[in-house]
Amino acid sequence: MTQKSYIRFLERFSLLWGNGMVHYVFVTGGVLSSVGKGILTSSIGKMLQTRGLKVNVIKIDPYVNVDAGTMNPYMHGEVFVTDDGGETDLDLGWYERFLDLSLKQENNITTGIVYKSTIEKERRGDFLGRCVQIVPHVTNEIKHRIKRVTKRSEVDIILTEVGGTVGDIEGLPFLEAIRQMRLEEGFNNTLYVHVALVPVLDVTNELKTKPLQHSVNELRRIGIQPDIIVARSPKMIDAEARRKIALFGTIPETAVFCSFNAESVYQVPLMLDGQGMGDFICKRFGFDCLSQNFDEWKQFVEAVLNPENEVKIALIGKYAGLKDSYVSMSEALLHGGAACNTKVRLKYISAEDLEKNPVSIRELKSFDGIFIPYGFGPRGTEGKIAAIRFARERDIPFLGICYGFQLAVVEFARNVCGLRDANSTEIDQNTAYPLIDLMPEQRKIMNKGATMRLGSHKVMLKPDTLAHNLYKQSGVYERHRHRFEVNLDYSQNLRKHGMVFSGKSTDGRRMEILELPKSYFFFASQFHGEFKSRPGKPSPGYYGFIRSCLAKKRGEPKPKF
Ligand code: GLN
Repeated sequence: MTQKSYIRFLERFSLLWGNGMVHYVFVTGGVLSSVGKGILTSSIGKMLQTRGLKVNVIKIDPYVNVDAGTMNPYMHGEVFVTDDGGETDLDLGWYERFLDLSLKQENNITTGIVYKSTIEKERRGDFLGRCVQIVPHVTNEIKHRIKRVTKRSEVDIILTEVGGTVGDIEGLPFLEAIRQMRLEEGFNNTLYVHVALVPVLDVTNELKTKPLQHSVNELRRIGIQPDIIVARSPKMIDAEARRKIALFGTIPETAVFCSFNAESVYQVPLMLDGQGMGDFICKRFGFDCLSQNFDEWKQFVEAVLNPENEVKIALIGKYAGLKDSYVSMSEALLHGGAACNTKVRLKYISAEDLEKNPVSIRELKSFDGIFIPYGFGPRGTEGKIAAIRFARERDIPFLGICYGFQLAVVEFARNVCGLRDANSTEIDQNTAYPLIDLMPEQRKIMNKGATMRLGSHKVMLKPDTLAHNLYKQSGVYERHRHRFEVNLDYSQNLRKHGMVFSGKSTDGRRMEILELPKSYFFFASQFHGEFKSRPGKPSPGYYGFIRSCLAKKRGEPKPKF
């Protein structure tokens, strides 16, 4: 053991002895949504983690949906899937990527889930005849759910991000619950962080702190006095703005931090740590300030910011107008790129536009790779199929995920196996060749929420295939979210024409990965590798794709993995 690691060991030990309590950080947001609360919460977690502390993160979503699974990605962004099959808010994806954690369904608390269980308890008679009220019964349920995560996770710090904006009606019970948590857990073990927008006025180039002041007031009206205020602004705040924020927020100037626009979100923990936020929180909680270690993180950020190479990728999707619909996928592509020193220039192309204007397919030849993401329903599918055909026939590197996998099977059946009207029954129920069909267990399901094949399932990889070479293992766990699958009646025919199913479920009955060995790189998976992709540990399929796009662009032979 080196002297440095011995000191860290001692530091960690004294920390555990010094304070056995779990500490709570609550993050609220003001002025408007999308101020980057998710990134801020993840960054606070990162600052603490790099000081040797163990963290866990909860996201509160005040909407009435029980989970995010039934929400339209075009309005709310992607649905993030956890190992245990939770269909959650996309912020859990940021927590997992920043902190390299595997979170659970219970890490996402919604109004829907809180009321559902409160009402179930009432129906069972658990409240013994009492009138069931928002305070204390609903707030108790919220606290119970936060503390349940605490109990199960054996960590030093629990971060809880409250979604929405302070002042929203639906957020009130949650803010009341976190207010009460200070009474129960003590001042020394709780910390409120409030982040709000500080815009710069175009005409005068002046930082405006008034909206932030109002949102702090709104928070105080509910009974929460923030301990830390983070100004979310386009540029670093000046001394005057800091002074005003501290004065009106009733906090010392040293408790004001600024999250300004950065080239990459992965810079945010470094930016805030540089301003002393990590040390401030440790001191506030009475932790002996542990030395932080950002070495690996910095290396990754450097690879993201200053890559030597570049590839252009076309993402053809139904929800191309909203980048958050594909955020785990675009991040996985970025992780894959960083691992081979390559910037990924991603262009979002509407599958429907491609369908309406087939001539534009030809424009895809200017890309180094074609990527077909997840999707649901018939709209835009012919555009995606045409793009897959273009990739296969022109030998442009191709990666397909979930629907992208299923449509690659349809395209191959139509244009290589000669099954001309082949389709998925999700698109055409009466197709003569149902290459993709509902999984048998799905047939009797009526409800939409939480009923797909979800979460982590084992995938067995065939030796001497691209999949096996990429993963370097014979069995891997990957996350799923689908109702349809490859119809086994056709697998023989597909195989005969050169499609290799290199990944299958453990019983061999579910096709999980396909590849075309004759192509430069043609790879697709039924599962979503992006959910487990991390900075410095890219998902193998995504890494292989970007690496191949780069090699092909340089005119090199196909890379060996
Ligand atoms: N719509 C397809 C299915 O349900 C694919 C789902 C997806 O892409 N996540 O099987």
